[in-house]
Amino acid sequence: MPSVQQTCILCASHNGDNLGLCKPCLKDLPWHNAQQCPQCALMTNGSICGSCLSTPPSFDATTALLTYDYPVDGLLQHYKYNASLNLAHTFASLFLEKKLTQSKQSMMQNEVNLIIPMPMHQNRLKERGFNQALEIAKLLSKALTIQLDYTACQRTKHTPPQASLNLKDRIKNIKGAFSCQQSLQHLNIAIIDDVMTTGASLNELAKTLKQAGAAHVECWVMARTLQK
Ligand SMILES: [Zn+2]
Ligand SMILES: [Zn+2]
Repeated sequence: MPSVQQTCILCASHNGDNLGLCKPCLKDLPWHNAQQCPQCALMTNGSICGSCLSTPPSFDATTALLTYDYPVDGLLQHYKYNASLNLAHTFASLFLEKKLTQSKQSMMQNEVNLIIPMPMHQNRLKERGFNQALEIAKLLSKALTIQLDYTACQRTKHTPPQASLNLKDRIKNIKGAFSCQQSLQHLNIAIIDDVMTTGASLNELAKTLKQAGAAHVECWVMARTLQK
């Protein structure tokens, strides 16, 4: 298939390719390829970090495509608040490339058989009209032929946005925020989200999925905030 030339979203050159990013801009993105904790994706020497050892999260692994730094922060903000489906396609395509490379390198991975996007409370969904995690999840589900379920789990608690809170308040804010009505017995689940900051929401959702019977839960996020 011939690639479609678009304007690059970052530098406005005309060599944006079919992802809307030119080669130099693509190369300069803050890829999260450094040695990291396999469970939460914070940078380590490749072993599990102290925080995951002392307080193990409910999710078992994390794959983060990029770090939440310039210009990814701006791109994700733009995506979220403008419902820019082109950007959903860009992030999903780049994430797929990473997954493909990963699966070639390792035979030890748990095969994911269900994809669940981070649920959004219905009030917020009404405000925004679109769930940024769901749009990316749809594309990943289709490309990987893994079932997508965005109704199994709901966000039942309408909470202030996590971004406005510190870690302690984030944990308190999100506690009991999700509910899951169906059995997820024996399933290996990937939760899709745009940004992982402290991981409090992903952890709480993973806990809910495990309580519903999930065998393995991993986080697939487009960007990870790294502690400075
Ligand atoms: Zn560019
Ligand atoms: Zn960790």
